[in-house]
Amino acid sequence: MSVLICGGAGYIGSHNVRAFKAHGEDVIVIDNLYTGHKASLPEDVKFYEGDIRDGKILDKIFTENKIEAVVHFCAFSLVGESVEEPLKYFDNNVGGMISLLEAMQRNDVKKIIFSSSAATYGEPKKVPILETDPTNPTNPYGESKLIMEKMMKWVSRRYDIRYVSLRYFNVAGAWHDGSIGEDHRHETHLVPIILQVPLGKRPHVTVYGDDYPTKDGTCIRDYVHVEDLARAHILALEYLRNGGESNIFNLGSGDGYSVMEMINAARKATGQDIAVEIGARRAGDPAKLVADSNKAHEILKWQPEITRMEDIIASAWKWHKGHPNGYAD
Ligand code: UDP
Repeated sequence: MSVLICGGAGYIGSHNVRAFKAHGEDVIVIDNLYTGHKASLPEDVKFYEGDIRDGKILDKIFTENKIEAVVHFCAFSLVGESVEEPLKYFDNNVGGMISLLEAMQRNDVKKIIFSSSAATYGEPKKVPILETDPTNPTNPYGESKLIMEKMMKWVSRRYDIRYVSLRYFNVAGAWHDGSIGEDHRHETHLVPIILQVPLGKRPHVTVYGDDYPTKDGTCIRDYVHVEDLARAHILALEYLRNGGESNIFNLGSGDGYSVMEMINAARKATGQDIAVEIGARRAGDPAKLVADSNKAHEILKWQPEITRMEDIIASAWKWHKGHPNGYAD
């Protein structure tokens, strides 16, 4: 039996492909390569280039292979773009989930692990955030992930499909040997942007606001290493294999770091000074997002192992230094 990784050529998907393979799973990947990179995939992985909104290619995959479970990473994920083009996000993210669940139901596939987001919560009333806290997304991206979760809930009740939804907080870092990492056409995430300074690709990093009600005035986030994150997906599969019921888990470290603390950690990790400019707040940024991940700890037995920000950033630095132009190198 194989595990189908949808969106396995993307940043988080490609790290999961490696982690599942290292765990001894037989992995099959579908990706439309819209934002993913074929070069991120190991050569011995069976790869289908296509879009999960195309039910025919899903039926082909489910017919040609014995798929035990689906791990679903396909989604557009740029918050700002989702506000500008909401229907693009609902079409791709929600449409992809409809097509995937339909194909799973047609082909009798009963387990799905879903890449969800802290964006489902919106602006929290309190931190750390619990899975039972209110979900009020503040942008179409977060809304699309919440709709996808709700679709799985209703489908699981009707068709005996079980799901685990993993709500990621901030994901960073790269595979330990530096061979794969983050490569977005349009980079918006803090860690790769900070590292573009020592790479000589930008003169400074702009800090989006230093007047938040936090210890140093800059926003606080909960950063998890992408390899720790991937391990949670394997534990989620084991959980479903052991008969676990459908469930939702936060994935974060429980510790918050400010933008300035991340820049200081990057200075240590790279051994270089990193110039900073203080800019305006970015619209929609909450001051502080930190996960309560005790549920994942108690039920999945998951806990992040790479918890020093300097180590997370050092792994990202290894990838970026070796591939200053990403997969184009
Ligand atoms: N950030 C920043 N400058 C940048 C990019 C991000 O100050 O060039 C801040 C952003 O305001 C947020 C944190 O870094 O507080 C993490 O942002 P990112 O976009 O990586 O993730 P998000 O928390 O928005 O999902």
